[in-house]
Amino acid sequence: MTLIRLIREAQAEVDLKKTYDAIVVGSGAAGGMAAHVLTSHGMKVLLLEAGKKLDIDAELKSTEWPYQHKRRGEMPPDSHALSFNEYTIRKPPYAADTKAKHVYSYVQGWGGSDYSKNIVVDERDHPYTGTNYAWVRARLLGGKTNIWGRLALRLSDLDFKAKSHDDYGEDWPISYKDIAPYYDKVDLYLGISGVKENLPHLPDSIFQRPIKLTYAELKLRQSLKKMNRVLTPYRAGVTTDGLKHNKYRSRCFGRGACNRRVGGCDIHAAFDSPTGLIMPAMDTGNLTLRTNAIAREITVDKKTGKASGVSFIDAETGQTYEAKGKVVVVAASTLESARLLLLSKSNEHPNGIGNSSGHVGHNFCEHIMGPHISGLVKDLVGKPRTLDDGKPGSFYLARFRNLTDRHPSFIRGYGFEGSSGSSIYPGNSSSTPGFGSSYKKSVRDYAGAFISMGAFGEVLARYENQVDIDPTVKDKWGVPVLRFNYKFGDNEKKMAADMANTGQEMFAEAGIEIIGVSRMILTEGWSIHELGTARMGNDKKSSVLNQFQQSHDVKNLFVVDGSSHVSASCQNPTWTIMALAWRSCDYLADQFKKGSL
Ligand SMILES: Cc1cc2nc3c(=O)[nH]c(=O)nc-3n(C[C@H](O)[C@H](O)[C@H](O)COP(=O)(O)OP(=O)(O)OC[C@H]3O[C@@H](n4cnc5c(N)ncnc54)[C@H](O)[C@@H]3O)c2cc1C
Ligand code: SF4
Repeated sequence: MTLIRLIREAQAEVDLKKTYDAIVVGSGAAGGMAAHVLTSHGMKVLLLEAGKKLDIDAELKSTEWPYQHKRRGEMPPDSHALSFNEYTIRKPPYAADTKAKHVYSYVQGWGGSDYSKNIVVDERDHPYTGTNYAWVRARLLGGKTNIWGRLALRLSDLDFKAKSHDDYGEDWPISYKDIAPYYDKVDLYLGISGVKENLPHLPDSIFQRPIKLTYAELKLRQSLKKMNRVLTPYRAGVTTDGLKHNKYRSRCFGRGACNRRVGGCDIHAAFDSPTGLIMPAMDTGNLTLRTNAIAREITVDKKTGKASGVSFIDAETGQTYEAKGKVVVVAASTLESARLLLLSKSNEHPNGIGNSSGHVGHNFCEHIMGPHISGLVKDLVGKPRTLDDGKPGSFYLARFRNLTDRHPSFIRGYGFEGSSGSSIYPGNSSSTPGFGSSYKKSVRDYAGAFISMGAFGEVLARYENQVDIDPTVKDKWGVPVLRFNYKFGDNEKKMAADMANTGQEMFAEAGIEIIGVSRMILTEGWSIHELGTARMGNDKKSSVLNQFQQSHDVKNLFVVDGSSHVSASCQNPTWTIMALAWRSCDYLADQFKKGSL
């Protein structure tokens, strides 16, 4: 039975007369985790998801070969993916100046984009305004987890206590020891592959079988040891050994299209929220799922000022409904959650619910990216081809800046993601000169000898980097859209310059011939790691949530996604989003049982 049929059959109708124990808004990493944890505590949960239920396995077709697709995986000609130049030259809303029938974010410019065209949003329906920003969204059951890159990293006290380290910004109201048991739970429940390295600034997970490094990656790893830097196999949020407790997922067969599509795994070895969290939550009998339900406003009990439920628009009919809940858990993703809080204005909460501090939408941060380096490992030229294509990731090079020393021109740090080896389509075919059999030989001889890597660096959280509600522009459903006021600063630009320099230095040291260096910074938002718009903190004047992601103002309101992060660190955020959500929902369920909400 397909996943979609299982979900349809398990789905009960939402009961608008009933008051649910909790309403969760959004079904991605954060909302899926909230649904899983709260239902496992016996709470009756309504999960509202703005997007549709997609037959994801029928969309992804991971084992389809390029020649089996009539356009070799490309989108139809009436569809357009925004480019770096468009993001830079134009101003949002980007679709307004584009003739194509469907307009998508830049990820649809990657290979195999026809397989993800129904997963990401059409920019025509979902405009935004303000400063340049490459905003990638997936509105469907499971959100962006359906196509995420799966790099699953932990944060450390270097991140949680960053202010104590360099005197910038704010410390988080938690330490590594508070979240470590929840990282462990996420590892064991969802599966992660990797290798222990014992680095204090990149804590290890409880790993399943790792992905093997290629010859070129091992060569670089060995060389980096001399520089006291660590290259480790990609820490993938993928089960490589299988998960006995989850019948909806399979172990990774290393046979998929991981490296030649936007993303997605149709045997669900890679974590996605529907099979990893939502289907098991449905099996408890405690979860009601309502898709096509766009949360429009968090409603308020006028007597108590507490949240009373969520009003939502049916995405297909445009009709508005109101669901009632004793607790509301917002998990619509960092920017959509801020939008919902700001849209939820009432006499009791005139700046938007939970926003007495005025910090909702502010302190917006993410990762800067762009600088990357590519090289040639000469001893691999002419060697037999290896199978490097069907694996969920290649390598991660951990942060090495500002650990114990102080860089003279910037604070915080960055890590590199990279890959090497043979792929289904030899990338060097278009740059190799010649023709005929000598051309083919040359392409084949060199195809597996390349290695490349690009950096992801911390963008500092700044109050002035912010989103608010546009006073005039609305989306397809008449909901006011977000207006961006967000720019990289001096620290990020100096850090980016260093990324390109150290990339070259490390390749040169390893004897890898440098064939390309890019110093260009990509548009704000490119990392798809937006964070910080409703940050946690101990002071209710300068933060929105407490350490359990509970609103300082409204005690039965929780915001459990990346909006709660106090700083971005340079590690990818999803594993932390889920560990924090698990911790907060354990607390929520406990408080609920005690009648304290
Ligand atoms: C191509 C790609 C690669 C990535 N690679 C990595 C990686 O390697 N490592 C990593 O850590 N992260 C990665 N990410 C980011 C990762 O996907 C996100 O961090 C994660 O999905 C965030 O979870 P979330 O629940 O906050 O948001 P989402 O997964 O986006 O889920 C939010 C959900 O809320 C729904 N929603 C929004 N508004 C409303 C509303 N008003 N009412 C009801 N529902 C609503 C959305 O439809 C969506 O389903 C990647 C993302 C993409 C797209
Ligand atoms: S390589 Fe593994 S994780 Fe990637 S698509 Fe294939 S089975 Fe899924």
